[in-house]
Amino acid sequence: MTAQERKANYDVLIIGAGIAGMYMLHRLREIGLTTRVLEAGTDVGGTWYWNRYPGARFDSESYSYGYSFSKELLEEWEWSEHFSPQPENLRYCNFVADKFDLRRDMDFNSKVTAAHFDDDANLWTLETEDGRRRSGRFLITAIGVFAKPMMPAIDGIDSFKGEAYHTATWPHDPVSFAGKRVGVIGTGATAVQLIQEVAKTAAHLNVFQRTPNWCAPLHNRPITAEEQQEIKASYDEIFKKCRASYAGFMHDSDRRRALQTDAAEREAFYEKLYGEPGFGIWMGNFRDVLVDEEANRTISEFVARKIRERVDDPAIADKLVPTNHGFGTRRVPMETRYYEVYNQDNVRLIDLRETPIERITETGIDTSADAHDLDMIVYATGFDAVTGGYSQMDIRGTGGQALTDKWADGVRTFLGLQVEGFPNMFTLVGPHNAASFCNIPRCIEQNVDWMADLMAKVKADGLARVESTADAEAEWTAHVHLMAQRMLFSKTNSWFTGINSNLEGRDQRSVLLYAGGAPGYRDKCDEVAAAGYAGMVLR
Ligand code: NAP
Repeated sequence: MTAQERKANYDVLIIGAGIAGMYMLHRLREIGLTTRVLEAGTDVGGTWYWNRYPGARFDSESYSYGYSFSKELLEEWEWSEHFSPQPENLRYCNFVADKFDLRRDMDFNSKVTAAHFDDDANLWTLETEDGRRRSGRFLITAIGVFAKPMMPAIDGIDSFKGEAYHTATWPHDPVSFAGKRVGVIGTGATAVQLIQEVAKTAAHLNVFQRTPNWCAPLHNRPITAEEQQEIKASYDEIFKKCRASYAGFMHDSDRRRALQTDAAEREAFYEKLYGEPGFGIWMGNFRDVLVDEEANRTISEFVARKIRERVDDPAIADKLVPTNHGFGTRRVPMETRYYEVYNQDNVRLIDLRETPIERITETGIDTSADAHDLDMIVYATGFDAVTGGYSQMDIRGTGGQALTDKWADGVRTFLGLQVEGFPNMFTLVGPHNAASFCNIPRCIEQNVDWMADLMAKVKADGLARVESTADAEAEWTAHVHLMAQRMLFSKTNSWFTGINSNLEGRDQRSVLLYAGGAPGYRDKCDEVAAAGYAGMVLR
């Protein structure tokens, strides 16, 4: 077959029908490019489709999370709570899909297993699990940062005879905890949301904690009719605030420094933040707490005191206070009476640092100290985050080079949107992209709008091939590393640095996120575009 004969089925193939894939499709349609979205699930929603465990909800203010691109949509949709729960979030995704008639260009049950670039024809061919192939001139990945859930590597894990679930592949039918002996493994943001729910009805809940996290109160509540009107009237302001902030939230760092603030004033500020809804305590704190260890110690000590105040048994409180990392250097789980759960008679905290899990048996979990009989095990063990979604597909660029080989010694990208040697492929919310450390829809809209401008140019100029140069990639990657070094999170093990689970052989921290802030990132993307896509070759 000659290159001429290898014709594309579509102009663009998108992988993923979550928040990013849905909006990308909408924009590409406006441009007039034929587009197909391939989605592993049975419907739209991405993260809100998969993570349907009880307790799942936004940690961003609902009205700062929804799409901003359609005034009509903003007018029509009403959030019921300040931090909306998963069922409503999924309804929102469905509402958007219906409103913009998105599903007619989507294939569901279509998990992409391979994506290969044909160098002569400038064509991407994608294969799905069912063996079907589709080709497109351009490939846009919209797989998010949590496409690959991680099960822990524990002996005997398949032998358990009771119910077992991973939070990220939660069943569509309701799961009842009532009267059951439930074990939850993990204490990340997911587990913290889930544990609060399980503790309400389970006969007994065992929480298997390896590393405690610094959690902060969410202070969620319903949105009143009056607030609803105010929210609708102030959308421009809300999005403007998000646009100016470091990570796309309604909260941005305080210009004062903890270390230059009088102790009483500092304490009062921490108290205020602890009493306010949402991520203010993380994203709206003194400007030095996430970059300076001494400053960080002041907020860590404050939150530790709060934990001790809220947990009755000092020995249990001790186990819940993190000792190996400072506040905010891992993702802060948001909670509603999480710490009080450990005052309940039906809840037990098992510290795996003292008594590690030895094996899972037919009837429960054996630690080095006890055999815990369980009816249900919930794995809230997280993800092979950021890059796992890419490495689970066989992605090959020019000369058959595998993306996993290209990234074997560390991720390299241009703007977190392109990889040299992988022409015509773009990674929305990819590694090294500000969207991977952001109130994601805010950064998704930036990513998608930038992509849409580029694709409009592709159409107008009849371009066949767009790729970044090795120099541009090296320069961006060095910049991403430099930005990460400033942050305390880069000195901590978590999914931010690629170490969050029993990932085989993963003992080196990686630089996966862009820590230079969303506004700076947006400026850089705009500069590249304004300079005729400097750092990229357009043919
Ligand atoms: P995670 O933060 O990576 O937490 C995984 C947990 O499982 C950790 O406590 C980890 O312990 C534990 N774990 C893993 N393997 C284990 C093993 N073999 N034995 C014992 N414990 C083990 O994952 P996540 O909680 O799913 O959260 C991931 C991210 O999703 C969050 O950081 C957040 O960005 C996002 N999320 C967002 C929302 C929201 O917006 N509302 C809600 C939930 C999650 P170690 O810490 O010791 O590794």
